[in-house]
Amino acid sequence: MSPTPITFTNVRKSYGNNSVVNGLSFRVNSGECFGLLGPNGAGKSTVARMVLGMAQPDAGTITVLGESIPTRARLARARIGVVPQFDNLEPGFTVQENLLIFGRYFGMSTAEIDAAIPSLLEFAHLESKAKARVSELSGGMKRRLTIARALINDPQLLVMDEPSTGLDPHARHLIWERLRLLLARGKTILLTTHFMEEAERLCDRLCVIEKGRSITEGSPNELIEQQIGGHVMEIYGGNPHDLHSLLAPHVSRAVVSGEALFCYASDLEKARAPLLDHAGLRVLQRPANLEDVFLRLTGHEIKDS
Ligand code: ADP
Repeated sequence: MSPTPITFTNVRKSYGNNSVVNGLSFRVNSGECFGLLGPNGAGKSTVARMVLGMAQPDAGTITVLGESIPTRARLARARIGVVPQFDNLEPGFTVQENLLIFGRYFGMSTAEIDAAIPSLLEFAHLESKAKARVSELSGGMKRRLTIARALINDPQLLVMDEPSTGLDPHARHLIWERLRLLLARGKTILLTTHFMEEAERLCDRLCVIEKGRSITEGSPNELIEQQIGGHVMEIYGGNPHDLHSLLAPHVSRAVVSGEALFCYASDLEKARAPLLDHAGLRVLQRPANLEDVFLRLTGHEIKDS
């Protein structure tokens, strides 16, 4: 049996007085997309760097593909594909040359790299750009090339730090589609993200972290079901505190967030009745999502952090 892709047990990491990872434990299983979801500054990139042996834990145990980290990180890294948060492609070189350079870095022969390049270009939808310089590519194309580059050594495990940050919605959807293809091919992915939607669409399981601590862990559906259940009504345009007094007795939970009131209930029709006398409100009804889970567990929205 192949070793567990990643185990993290009671890992701690501080920078000076800043305690960035506080006793974090999680396990990534073969073939799953495991997400670390949290606001900026939660410690996600630090965790990703510790997985790669690029940041040293102060305490705790980390194994990656059966290797003890950081002592055997070099061995593990040879079997991991890495997609860093910021593209570090060679801008003056062509798409093809970037793949070649990276393959050499992994000790592959030119013949091996040449054999791998066509399918990588196809994967990245960059067949027509093979001879284009990286500086001529759009942000989405660069991201897809970075992902293709991470696949050059056919790794079983991919570590992706905020893979779609900075992209427009169309480019982001293309990236998600490529990542789903990798999962269908049996790859394991550790993904850090602060996008609820990305986590909800891609992750089989996720660990929601804040200030370097796990605040909950499970599949997106499990978390939504356990923490929220049912439906959400967002109400804008009135005094949210007055609306809270009005509606709280009729719903399972009501929370003021900024200018809005969020109401959670299994039957929102009944909950809407007291609003009939209040004109001018904008009421949005929708199924619960991970943003609601985060709000419930932390008391604030992820983008406010
Ligand atoms: P995230 O990826 O969730 O945005 P990071 O892991 O990048 O979070 O950062 C978590 C915290 O650790 C931040 O407060 C950041 O300033 C700090 N930090 C990260 N790397 C370093 C470093 N090399 N030196 C000092 N502080 C760091």
